[in-house]
Amino acid sequence: MGFNIKAVGGDAAANVFRWLFPRACWGCEGDLDGNERGLCGRCLNRVVRWSGWSCRICGVPLPDGGARCYVCRRRRREFRFCRSAGLFEGILRRSILALKYGHRDDLAPALCIPLVRVFKERSELQKNQCVVPVPLHFIRRHGRGFNQSELLGRGLADGVGLPLVSGVLVRRRWTWAQARLGRDQRKANVAGAFTVRYPDAVQGKRILLVDDVCTTGATLESCAEALKQAGARSVDALTLARDYTGPRPDSQ
Ligand SMILES: [Zn+2]
Ligand SMILES: [Zn+2]
Repeated sequence: MGFNIKAVGGDAAANVFRWLFPRACWGCEGDLDGNERGLCGRCLNRVVRWSGWSCRICGVPLPDGGARCYVCRRRRREFRFCRSAGLFEGILRRSILALKYGHRDDLAPALCIPLVRVFKERSELQKNQCVVPVPLHFIRRHGRGFNQSELLGRGLADGVGLPLVSGVLVRRRWTWAQARLGRDQRKANVAGAFTVRYPDAVQGKRILLVDDVCTTGATLESCAEALKQAGARSVDALTLARDYTGPRPDSQ
């Protein structure tokens, strides 16, 4: 494209343009190659990956080094490991927000590419036997029309050849959006919020839990707790993004 669509009429015009010409990348408006959908390879390469030290258990960046973070040193987490494909910033942050709040579920297949990649790189995740998405409350699921974690979980499951087990882990009560809450409030907000409807589907299994963003890990731990109570053998977590705003290795 030889012109910037945003200059002609703002975001509304850009959205109409994308709707009319879906072969353009959502991130950079450049052309998509044959098998690319939603986001181009250049945009996916701009996903910021943490290259410094990180917690062996929960994966949180540790700019000062060390094996485990403060939380994981003090108590045992409900998941064995938590890993993420990138940091919640830049193109990853923008596309996750568009996916969740901008009805851009067509971005999900492209966003599964970094998820599949991190699964393949991380041998500690590879014993898992099935993929379980973090559920939305049915009212929120109904309002949005889809559950973004389920779209990501399905793409991951297909990409790595594991079964997707959805509709088994459910939210039994309404919870407020975690993004508005502090660390302690987040924990209380999701405590006991999840339950397993069909325990047979998870009993004795090693489960990989999938969500879009990990901040404190409270939601993932609450899900892992419910799955283990229902008889799951172990639970790992994989999220597309890790919300991290602390210092960077090169700024030390
Ligand atoms: Zn692009
Ligand atoms: Zn940790």
